[in-house]
Amino acid sequence: MFAPLAAWLLQRRIPFQENAAIAPHLALGIGGTVRLLIRPRDARQRLAVLRHLAGAGAAPGIPGARASERSGERPYLVIGGGSNIAFPDVPVQAAVLLTQGEEAPPAPLLLADEGALEVDAGMRNQPFLAWCAASGAGGLEFLSGIPGTLGGAAAVNAGAFGRSVADVLLAADIVDGQGRRRRVDAAHFGFRYRDSRFKLGSEALLTLRLRHEPASGEAIAARTRENLEYRVTRHPSYRLASAGCFFKNPQVGGTKISAGKIIEESGLKSTTLGALAVAAEHANFLLNRGGGTFVDLQRLEEKIRAAVAARTGIVLEREVIYVSPDGKKY
Ligand SMILES: Cc1cc2nc3c(=O)[nH]c(=O)nc-3n(C[C@H](O)[C@H](O)[C@H](O)COP(=O)(O)OP(=O)(O)OC[C@H]3O[C@@H](n4cnc5c(N)ncnc54)[C@H](O)[C@@H]3O)c2cc1C
Repeated sequence: MFAPLAAWLLQRRIPFQENAAIAPHLALGIGGTVRLLIRPRDARQRLAVLRHLAGAGAAPGIPGARASERSGERPYLVIGGGSNIAFPDVPVQAAVLLTQGEEAPPAPLLLADEGALEVDAGMRNQPFLAWCAASGAGGLEFLSGIPGTLGGAAAVNAGAFGRSVADVLLAADIVDGQGRRRRVDAAHFGFRYRDSRFKLGSEALLTLRLRHEPASGEAIAARTRENLEYRVTRHPSYRLASAGCFFKNPQVGGTKISAGKIIEESGLKSTTLGALAVAAEHANFLLNRGGGTFVDLQRLEEKIRAAVAARTGIVLEREVIYVSPDGKKY
């Protein structure tokens, strides 16, 4: 199923590895191998691969390729910074495309429409905020300290300090399930708390159009720094492997309550299981202390869910994405 894809990539000199380890590309560092790991050099290669994977113009020049070899039936998924996802220990039969190429993404653009900008989905949040400060584009500092890319942030509706991507996203250019490049508006995302149709779907984001508010570079840089400092003093060190908050904050009687607080009150702070640990600084962070497995991650997840449910009756919902051995996100 993957040989025609490998041949297609080879023909076009698009970098890829077969049976590649995925853990080094993930913040939590948990996962075995993936059938193909594709690293397009730039936005042009990325678009070609995404259109091919989704089935448009598939496998030209590969005579006799069966429909299943050419179409979107071949599992694939897109990864940005890999900071909100874990893979199983067993080999995953899927092609994985990393959106961050060897070349830096094109610089964002301030658009003629007042208060709008356009940014490549493969751009990382922190360099983006440096550009925002240099360009006087304010209102996006809530992204400060959230690892990963703008595309990943939009897909999971990432947020902090009372704001999330849904508050600033105007439109996006995507590759849809039929391999078509098209412009969609914010309604297409179906944004919910830490969720959108892209989180578990296979459509890919190419560029995002975001709202910004004019502000001075000094003010933007100061808010970016303050937000980062706030996180550094309350969260585990960025040097430790985690995927950020593991569970969503549950809604109880119309109010969101902190999952970290109820995990802590359930007596689970600093609990360990194999190489995994519940962080001492923030009980909703699960840490991989080196060599952690997916099986242990799932066991720790169940242990926490059961303890919290027994104590409070609340069933915690996972925020972090898992991938199945056949390449489906869940
Ligand atoms: C230390 C730490 C702190 C964190 N703090 C926060 C926080 O405060 N708030 C918060 O919301 N999250 C937080 N996170 C979680 C994570 O960083 C965010 O969810 C981040 O926005 C994910 O971006 P990413 O590029 O790493 O996405 P990935 O993990 O690579 O992918 C996440 C999802 O997005 C999809 N995706 C990625 N790129 C694209 C694309 N171009 N097109 C379509 N789909 C795409 C993937 O398929 C997957 O479904 C934290 C994580 C860590 C490790």
